[in-house]
Amino acid sequence: MAKINRNYLKLPGSYLFSRIGQKVAEYQKAHPEAEIIRLGIGDVTRPIAPAVIAALDSAVKEMGEESTFRGYAPDLGYEFLRNAIAENDYRSRGCDISPDEIFVSDGAKCDCGNIQEIFGLDNVIAVCDPVYPVYVDSNVMAGRTGEFDSEADRYKGVVYMTCGKESAFVPELPEEVPDLIYLCFPNNPTGAVATKEQLQKFVDYANEHGSIILFDAAYESYISEPGIPHSIYECEGAKKCAIEFRSFSKTAGFTGLRLGFTVIPKELETDGEKLWPLWARRHGTKYNGAPYIIQRAGEAIYSEAGKEQVKQQIAYYMWNAGYIRDGLKEAGFEVYGGVNAPYIWLKTPGDMTSWEFFDELLDKANVVGTPGSGFGPGGEHYFRLTGFGSKENTVKAMERILKLYK
Ligand code: PLP
Repeated sequence: MAKINRNYLKLPGSYLFSRIGQKVAEYQKAHPEAEIIRLGIGDVTRPIAPAVIAALDSAVKEMGEESTFRGYAPDLGYEFLRNAIAENDYRSRGCDISPDEIFVSDGAKCDCGNIQEIFGLDNVIAVCDPVYPVYVDSNVMAGRTGEFDSEADRYKGVVYMTCGKESAFVPELPEEVPDLIYLCFPNNPTGAVATKEQLQKFVDYANEHGSIILFDAAYESYISEPGIPHSIYECEGAKKCAIEFRSFSKTAGFTGLRLGFTVIPKELETDGEKLWPLWARRHGTKYNGAPYIIQRAGEAIYSEAGKEQVKQQIAYYMWNAGYIRDGLKEAGFEVYGGVNAPYIWLKTPGDMTSWEFFDELLDKANVVGTPGSGFGPGGEHYFRLTGFGSKENTVKAMERILKLYK
């Protein structure tokens, strides 16, 4: 008899967004006239920038000509894209990352979820609480969180680094030393950012204890304040202890096109082995590369026109985020985020749980958000709204929220 991977049975039954979808569908069925506005989504809504469309168009034409047709992409990704990334995202910011240290992929979710494969099952992982669920779930699937007898033990083996308002949603260094430390700044779901000093402390800690930092910078392009690090490699010594993930999804609306990359410095090693060749082997064996046309589309965001158009898209979402943030403050809410990230993290009124507030907002304002408790116990009594909707819907949703709570 074929046996299943029983680790999958340890995963929570219903993924956060499917539970939200189910609740919204039930509500809509019972109230067909309700005009529901979704501000819970982490998906973009603006169309792809013209410079990117032009690049896609010309790459599609190339694929139709015998002389310019391309088959499998090189394992690490096309050099034209890796050169553009290294130059624009790293070297121009003073980070010494070479194109050879960049692995192009179809997005950060796969890379964040798959990276744990190159590490032993006996590694202890540390994550922020609240947290983007992929980091924990992918380790549970691999069996890294061990056996459990009760619900309470489900994530035994994970070091949770509490991120509360007292520390502006940036974790303290963990007391129990983990082997792998997942960090994400600007943060999903809290919208918080870490200062250079705070990140440097983690880098020094990792180098002192031999831990590896897995740094998710998917929202790097939303940083608006000067002095906030865009990359972990802005910290001294990070090339000796950190892997970085980036995504074109939120930077340039590629959630449907799919493109991202992972940086593994050549010098990064642990347990007597370099990590670059391990990921290269994994990448080469299990992945056949992002499509040529999409890599050309990615290259286009680094052109002068592309940069300007993408900047405008980000400004559009950040206008929404600012509008939500200001409106909620006006209504008396305790609000965080929304300045260097498209996420607004608010404290639920009174003692309401995250799901109680979800139900109230859906029922009384027909607005959908994301309950904070879905991101871990530390998210209870918080709620996430996003700036990714349309301007019109954002304004309309805030009118309803202000009417209800102000
Ligand atoms: N990392 C974080 C923190 C995210 O919030 C998301 C998407 O919501 C991703 C990674 C996934 O990015 P991609 O679309 O490149 O897979």
